[in-house]
Parts: sequence; structure tokens; C-alpha cells
Amino acid sequence: MARFRISVLPGDGIGPEVTREALRVLDAVAERWSHRFDREEDLVGGAAIDRYGTALRQETLERARKADAVLFGAVGGPKWDDPRAPVRPEQALLGLRKGLGLFANLRPVRAHDELLDASPLRAEVVRGTDMLVVRELTGGLYFGRPQRRWRSAVGRQAVDTMRYSEPEILRVAQVAFELARGRRKRVTHVHKANILDTSRLWREVVEEVARGYPDVELDHLLVDACAMHLVRRPASFDVILTENMFGDILTDEASMVAGSMGMLPSASLGRRRSDGTGRGLYEPIHGSAPDITGKSIANPLAMILSTALMLRYSCGLPREAEAVEAAVDSVIARGLRTPDIAAPGQRSVSTPEMGDAVVATLRS
Ligand code: NAD
Repeated sequence: MARFRISVLPGDGIGPEVTREALRVLDAVAERWSHRFDREEDLVGGAAIDRYGTALRQETLERARKADAVLFGAVGGPKWDDPRAPVRPEQALLGLRKGLGLFANLRPVRAHDELLDASPLRAEVVRGTDMLVVRELTGGLYFGRPQRRWRSAVGRQAVDTMRYSEPEILRVAQVAFELARGRRKRVTHVHKANILDTSRLWREVVEEVARGYPDVELDHLLVDACAMHLVRRPASFDVILTENMFGDILTDEASMVAGSMGMLPSASLGRRRSDGTGRGLYEPIHGSAPDITGKSIANPLAMILSTALMLRYSCGLPREAEAVEAAVDSVIARGLRTPDIAAPGQRSVSTPEMGDAVVATLRS
């Protein structure tokens, strides 16, 4: 029996609805394998702004630091959308990433054979897609200084700075190569080395890291070409490794390959122990979906699959993670669909019914 401490932050909108189902799945895992997941639930995002005047309280962050993992639903909504407001829901996520030192964002994208029609791309293009995008999360253009705007004789001007250091590239590249070893052993490094010095540094450091992984094949691809190949031949990618802004854009593009946002999990990881596990934050890639909040039609599978990633990367329980993923595959194969993934005219189930089906499969 293993025991873990999990910080549960459901957030706003459909966040609490999908988190509820993920926790039931976690209970089923605990029961089947006799593990113990001690859970501490707290408010973040808009819910925390309403109650405490801040999106992330210091004590919430402290508790997350002491936990083995954070399960995060989604934050935001029209009530808190004013971009000029001094406190905004997404500050919770940024504060957690920074406060927990989470520098590698992982987004697996897999096309289920039964859901090929949910993708805007043709089924024959999407079939067989099984890729993992590893995005650097705490450096580059979004964090570089100077970042400011000013008035000058020629009118308004602004500057953002793209900066990377060798250790920042090294640690995320190592994560990508380690993960590639457990997959099809190919890393595609995505860059803009024909223009950017930061990309040339990335290329050098990634090649140095690659020497330590002779069993993993490395290729380099320009970011513009990658954007094209993601919709032309998505099934050809295994692990994509890239810097922060390129990853931000490419992960959204890649997510469309699978169709619904309601199917896609993510993990944000920090420093790993020698067995490959370490603290992480796990969340679906979708937002709080205010348009469907309270209707019990949100797809909980992205959140449930995020929980599977937590079992694998923070708890070191790959067998349990695979069982959850297999249970999700099984309910999809048996034709259960929330409305976002249902074909026209196909019967759909509610959020708790989808959760019930995954739990029942795990128990069977
Ligand atoms: P969204 O992801 O919330 O929704 C986009 C569309 O996808 C909506 O039509 C929604 O109904 C649908 N959708 C999303 N998740 C679904 C699910 N699990 N099942 C079925 N359908 C689903 O994006 P948005 O509408 O651009 O943003 C809404 C709010 O969420 C905003 O306040 C935004 O800032 C916030 N947001 C938060 C996060 C986060 O917490 N990580 C991420 C993105 C957006």
C-alpha cells in the first residue's frame, strides 16, 4: 500500500463538475490497489477571488508545496473577465507553476479510432496519432525582461525579450528524452534557428543532451514547418520538444487533431527524482466552459486522464495509470459519449454517467 498527499483545486465553472468524477475514479483506484490518497481541497481562481480577494492564497500554495501532486480543474469565467482587474483567476495557475517550479508541460495527444470523426481533420490523416508535446513552461518570451511599452518621437513602441539559459534548456530536454525512452524513441526538437539566437542555443544544448540517449533518435524541425506537418501528418510525431511560446501555439493546434478539448489531459512537472517521479500539477487542457456549466454535460475524461498522468508521473504507479487509461478507452469503445464527442443523432450521457462508467470498468 502506498500513501499520497494530493492537493485538489477544482476552480470555477465546469472545474468542480469534472474534478468530482476524477476523484471518484481516484477512489476506485485506491480501493482496487489498497492505496491511500489524502486529499486537501481548496478554492482557487474566481471562487477564491470572491471569497478571499485573491486567486491563490499563500496557504494554498504552501499546502500544494507539501503535497505529492496537485489536481487542478479550471479557472475563470465572465464574472472575472475584465483584463484591467488587478486580480484575475489565471493568476492562480501562473502562481502555482512558478511557486512549484513546474518547468515542463506535457500534453499527450492521441486519436481514438472511435472518435476520428470528432476531429476537423480527415479521419485518414488523424488515424494512429499518438504524440506527446513537451513544452518549456517558465522561460522565454513570456518571462524575459525588459518587457514594456513606451512613447517615443515615432509613436508608441513596445519590447518583449526572449531569453534562455543552458540549464533551463537542459532540464526540459532531459524530461523529453526520458519520456521518449518509454515511447517510440523519437524526439523532434522544434525551433526557429534560421532567425533566433535562442533557437540556436536550444539546438546545441538539445544535441548535447541527445548524446546521453543514443537509443533515442533526434531530429530538428522549423516551427513554421511543424505547424504545417501537424495537420498534414500528425501520426508521424512521437515526442515534440519546444520552447514556451512555440509550445503554447503548437499544443493548441495539436489538440484539435484529437477533436474535443474534453478528451485532452496535461501535466506540468518540475524536478524529478531518480525514479522519474516528482511533484506535478495535472489539469485538463480546457477552460471553465461557462456556456455549459451546471448542465451536467461536461466531458470529464480529460480530467480523468489527467489523474492517470498524476498516478504515473507523481505517484510512480504506472500500472494504475494504465488501468485508468484502459477504462477510458473501454467506455469510448462501448459507445458512451458526452455531447461534445457524440456524433449527430447519437445518444449522449451526462457527466456523472460518464464517471460511473469509468469507475464501473475499473471495478470490474
Ligand atoms: P473553454 O475551454 O472553457 O471552452 C471552449 C469550448 O469548449 C466551449 O464551447 C466549451 O463548452 C467546450 N468545452 C470545454 N471543455 C469541455 C468539456 N470538458 N466538455 C465539453 N465541452 C467542453 O475555453 P473558453 O470558452 O475560451 O474559456 C472559458 C473560460 O475559461 C475563460 O474565462 C478562460 O479564461 C478560462 N480558461 C481557463 C483555463 C484554465 O483554467 N487552465 C484554460 C483555458 C481557458
